Amino acid sequence: MRTYLDNNATTPPDPRVIEAMNLALTKHFGNPASASHIYGWEAEACVKIAREEVADLIGAKPNEIYFTSGATESINLALRGMSLPKKTILTTAIEHKATLDSIELLKRDSIDCRTIPTDRYGLVDLETLKNELKRGADLVSIIGAHNEVGTIQDISRITNLCTEFNATSHFDLTQAVGKMPLSMSEMGIKVASFSAHKLYGPKGVGALFISTDIQSQMSPLLVGGGHERGLRSGTLNVPGIVGLGAACKILKEEQHSVIKHTSELANSLFNKLNSAIPGLILNGHPTKRIPGNLNITLPEVNSNALLSKLASSVAISSTSACTSGSAAGSFVLKALGISQEAAKSTVRIGVGRFNTQAEINFAAEKISDVYHKLRA
Ligand code: PLP
Repeated sequence: MRTYLDNNATTPPDPRVIEAMNLALTKHFGNPASASHIYGWEAEACVKIAREEVADLIGAKPNEIYFTSGATESINLALRGMSLPKKTILTTAIEHKATLDSIELLKRDSIDCRTIPTDRYGLVDLETLKNELKRGADLVSIIGAHNEVGTIQDISRITNLCTEFNATSHFDLTQAVGKMPLSMSEMGIKVASFSAHKLYGPKGVGALFISTDIQSQMSPLLVGGGHERGLRSGTLNVPGIVGLGAACKILKEEQHSVIKHTSELANSLFNKLNSAIPGLILNGHPTKRIPGNLNITLPEVNSNALLSKLASSVAISSTSACTSGSAAGSFVLKALGISQEAAKSTVRIGVGRFNTQAEINFAAEKISDVYHKLRA
């Protein structure tokens, strides 16, 4: 038996998503920009439906959705495409690399980028944020739900502060969409990035939400055919977009049961591991966390040794997929004040909607067994 418990790295596509994509690949293969025939019109109609499905899940209008190749591109477009005079950007040290590296590029263009501290759970220090906004800032970019430790920010309080001090808010919602109810309009979010492959859709497609009132402030990074209302040129990835739309439609209907299922399984796994492994620590916020995510420190065992013994049977990770190859370990845990020693004994587990209790029982037994063998 083997089980996949790395659903924060990516999720298996829902079979219904694959079915919808299959139709887009075979029957609706036209170029949605082809205005002169029915193949183009049909493909365009598929994209229109998908745009509505995506908007519906996140409480936005269809014309506020821009399709991209994934969250990395959306984040780059959000941060680097926001036209000047956005001179000051506030962010945290625990963002995804897509944000941190975009910020590094902006610094080269003399944009003032300041880091807002987070507490040991990864929650943004709202007092410092307020003070920095008072000093003057144009854009605030925050990871809404954390890919490693799972912590969910108090998004509405952050957007309220941004509104008070006239700053634009961008949230990396890659790990939030489909895992918690969201409404861009009610939460006052101005810009948000996310990706299909984290919500049981395909890889290589994502979206950027841009609130209608600030769309004119954005400039494209990719120019060419003027697709996506001039903000993202390139022939649309119709099967991917259809897959993203289908994934969003499914989650609009089933989100609550998915949240319940993944939370219950993650709790069950945590309880089993906690009783088998003395001194286990759960990192990230104890309650404000995305369902299914567990970031745990297993005392006095090297997580890489543990992972390599589990690799063929239980798929878990030590950090985000993008940094899992790096010898430096998790910069996020370091930023949260977790000691290097504890960080080296930490694993990330991501339970998904297709996991079963039998898999959780199997994983708990395997992880505990390997842990105790390594300690012996
Ligand atoms: N932001 C977060 C929080 C993520 O977890 C990821 C994926 O690992 C990304 C951004 C990048 O997403 P994508 O793989 O779609 O480029």
